[in-house]
Amino acid sequence: MMKLSEAIRLGAMMAPQVKGVAISDEGTCAMGGAIQAAGLTLLPNNPSAPPTRELSSGQSSVSVRFPAEWGMSVQHICPECHGKRVLARLIPHINDDHGWTREQIADWVATIEPQQAPQESEMGAELPEQQTAVIT
Ligand SMILES: [Zn+2]
Repeated sequence: MMKLSEAIRLGAMMAPQVKGVAISDEGTCAMGGAIQAAGLTLLPNNPSAPPTRELSSGQSSVSVRFPAEWGMSVQHICPECHGKRVLARLIPHINDDHGWTREQIADWVATIEPQQAPQESEMGAELPEQQTAVIT
């Protein structure tokens, strides 16, 4: 599995950046692009429907099974406004609310990546190996 920062950079090359939605006809947000680049499985809202790797255009909220090594449930401080959020919400927040480019977001993610492993193992008792998070 590629690193999160690499997935964000790759996603930036695949489609233009949009805000407020994971993916639209115009492009992808930092998170949506990373999900597409890494080929993550999306969990449909209807539990009886089969999982899909295709993001529906205009979908503002998707459930995704993130790789544990991405540390998406670990809390981080926003580098811009210093608010605390789990990474799965912090990345869309920086994308939408602070207007960073995905290259800037990837650079920032790369600075926090080395610290993720110990933090994640501390939380390991509560977390399944692969976390499911809803991103908006
Ligand atoms: Zn912020």
